[in-house]
Amino acid sequence: MSLVPADFNLTVGSTTSSAGRPQNEDAILVKPVPALAAGGGTGFVLAVADGMGGHARGEVASQLAITLLEDLFNHDMPEDMALALKQAYRRANEAIYKQGATDAGEARMGTTLVSAVVRGKYATIANVGDSRAYLIRAKQLTQITQDHSLVAEQVAKGELNEEQAKRSPQRNIVTQALGLSETLDRRMPSIYELTLLPEDRLLLCSDGFFDVMQPDDYVSTIMAQNPQESALSLATMATDRGTTDNVSAIVLEVSPSLATVQRERIGTEIAANAPRMSPLVIPIVTILILILAIALGVYFYL
Ligand code: CA
Repeated sequence: MSLVPADFNLTVGSTTSSAGRPQNEDAILVKPVPALAAGGGTGFVLAVADGMGGHARGEVASQLAITLLEDLFNHDMPEDMALALKQAYRRANEAIYKQGATDAGEARMGTTLVSAVVRGKYATIANVGDSRAYLIRAKQLTQITQDHSLVAEQVAKGELNEEQAKRSPQRNIVTQALGLSETLDRRMPSIYELTLLPEDRLLLCSDGFFDVMQPDDYVSTIMAQNPQESALSLATMATDRGTTDNVSAIVLEVSPSLATVQRERIGTEIAANAPRMSPLVIPIVTILILILAIALGVYFYL
């Protein structure tokens, strides 16, 4: 019996909320995509964009990034997912930059963009900015993406520890975003490849959670409920705790497919039935041999 099923069921829940601000400058994408060939399970494209720029232009930037990413999956599925995502991020950067240039005299609009393409057990994650992808596996929360932020760079250099970074007044300064410069830094987006396991959860979220949530909050909330309930509970929790920002969360749950469950159940039943025969068979055979031996003994003795 295989412990890693060939195909998975993927369930997704999501929410985006203005929460601690009058306007919501976040935008999200949850789009089903075709399954991989030969039992590869279902698929999704997921993304969270967190826009920035005054006069509602953050909304424009984040929505543009989401729309351009979605376009990539409106036709054939790309073969090289990492390459396709890199190209989509570049196109989004150019489009947002051009649109930003039309409004003179104001700060440029820009947006973060974290995205995940999940097909069966394979996930490709791309990131620019400080929205995050987390993996919950065996009740442990792991941050997959590295923030492109000033404090993350300071932590990497050893100038700040994690706790100081969380309290730094500069914690919201991003060092990479879409739309801020004419061409995207050639190292961007950061790409991460993952192989998912049954019971894994993937969380994509904007930075509105970071000031008010602890790692255990994500784990206990997400493990206790289905993905849609989890996403809503996380947003409610952040709002109740007084976040001063928008919050967006997408939760993906990985479970074994029905075919895998049935296959494993049949395997378990066969395994459970097999030993029931042996306790009876052994004494019967022993008794038969004894009777035969006695019969032979009696025959020759007489
Ligand atoms: Ca934000």
